[in-house]
Amino acid sequence: MLQERSFKRDQAADDGPQGSTYQGLASQILDTLEQGVIVWSADATCITHNARSLHLLELKPAQLSLGTKLDDLLDLLTSRGDEIDLNQAEIQTGFDDQRPFQFEIRLKAGGMISAQVRPVRDGGHIVAFTDVTDMRQAICALEDARAEAARAEKTANEVLTHERARKREVSLLAQMDEWLQSCKSLEELYEIVTAFMQKILPGSRGQLFIYSNSRDVLEQACAWQFDTKQDNVTPDSCWALRRGRSYSYSNDQLGFVCDHVKSATTDGPSPEKFTCVPIVAHGDTVGLMHIEFLPGAESEDVIDPIEFTIRCGEHISMAIANVKLRDELQDQSTRDPLTGLYNRRYFLDAMRRIIGQTANRQGNFALLSIDADKFKNYNDEHGHDAGDAVLEAIAEKMCALDAEGAVACRIGGEEFCILLPLADRSRATESAEELRQSIEEMRVKYIGGPLPKVTVSIGIAVYPTHGTDPKELIKQADLALYAAKDAGRNCSQVADSMSMITFD
Ligand code: GH3
Ligand code: MG
Ligand code: MG
Repeated sequence: MLQERSFKRDQAADDGPQGSTYQGLASQILDTLEQGVIVWSADATCITHNARSLHLLELKPAQLSLGTKLDDLLDLLTSRGDEIDLNQAEIQTGFDDQRPFQFEIRLKAGGMISAQVRPVRDGGHIVAFTDVTDMRQAICALEDARAEAARAEKTANEVLTHERARKREVSLLAQMDEWLQSCKSLEELYEIVTAFMQKILPGSRGQLFIYSNSRDVLEQACAWQFDTKQDNVTPDSCWALRRGRSYSYSNDQLGFVCDHVKSATTDGPSPEKFTCVPIVAHGDTVGLMHIEFLPGAESEDVIDPIEFTIRCGEHISMAIANVKLRDELQDQSTRDPLTGLYNRRYFLDAMRRIIGQTANRQGNFALLSIDADKFKNYNDEHGHDAGDAVLEAIAEKMCALDAEGAVACRIGGEEFCILLPLADRSRATESAEELRQSIEEMRVKYIGGPLPKVTVSIGIAVYPTHGTDPKELIKQADLALYAAKDAGRNCSQVADSMSMITFD
């Protein structure tokens, strides 16, 4: 303080007789300011300062007084941990151009001080300090709030986009389901799968394989966007089938390419990403859906193509299960369980249909009525099970008959019928003889060795010669059959050739 007063006194002497008055007044004015002020001389020595500057910079009077060097003050501040945000280039420009500039001091204790530097003409400068701690905190809080609001908006947008895509996915799957549910055959189903998968996942290509009846391979049922046709894959060439659950491969993750994929891409590199989904119907694996994702071709309708593919696979599985179940029920209602031939109900429907078609083209068709000879005796001698084996063998021969569009049926017991849609009298007689002979020649293998031969008698009725409705045609074919039995069995008879035989 002494030093300060003496400095003031010296200055006052230079200023003339009234200098001390001005100096005192200036000092009083400085002390009334909200800002802290330090005045530095050209050689960076403190000329004067107010009490507020000590308070703001958290200095003791001994640390800042008249004669304190700027460098010493800066050293003091930095050594106690304050951070001074000074840009040397800005300071230089400020002094060179005599332009005010600003910097900030972050006090270790947490306060934030803004310093306004105003160069003065004699080379010195005045620094005014303002406490901006509250303001900075308010700005920070505002920025945090803004960032939080932006984050919340982003999340809301993401949720909205996700929700929209999910709705589109659900709607696409619902559309596919609607079509799949109304298909009558597997062929129709494959057509629908092909069309929908191309639409739903435009950036992909795929194949649907279905187990062959022998179940040793899966045959390609349909494919989309594939140039090459891969006829079949073996069950052990696919990781999904081997592991019993869907398998996704991506070349940027640890994984292995399925053998069926490798063998389909011998000419080029394996796909970067693919998914294989087992197709399961009523708990049984019936097929495989394989989908490859082409690079850079994502669909905006689908959130996660792999997950969506798996869901498509589940829907397709369900549809295949339904069609198969419908086929099985249809078979059960139209097929005879022992021989697999059509049953009497189907036979009557088929005959009505063929009558309609034949009437339109004004042609012929024939009905063969077939009955095993002396079958009661056969059963009595060899047992009922052996008789069953013979009935199955007769059915096989009926199916093997070389006649276009033939419909083979088991009417009941040891009685069968065949509809020959394109046969006239002579073709029907030829077919009947061919069948009769092939049955006579067959040797049915059974436990304990081959069974003795069995013969059949056949009655033939031809549309429209012997009748134009099912009832009449069946009656005429049966009459012809009785005639064949009467003629000694193991022979065939055409309806009108036994006109001399009278029946009640
Ligand atoms: P015909 O030459 O006059 O036709 O003599 P048939 O013994 O074949 O005729 P019949 O109508 O008297 O006997 C039919 C026999 O067919 C009686 C029955 O034992 C046998 N049969 C009927 N249905 C089945 C079947 O599902 N399995 C077996 N094994 N035999 C059957
Ligand atoms: Mg009979
Ligand atoms: Mg019989």
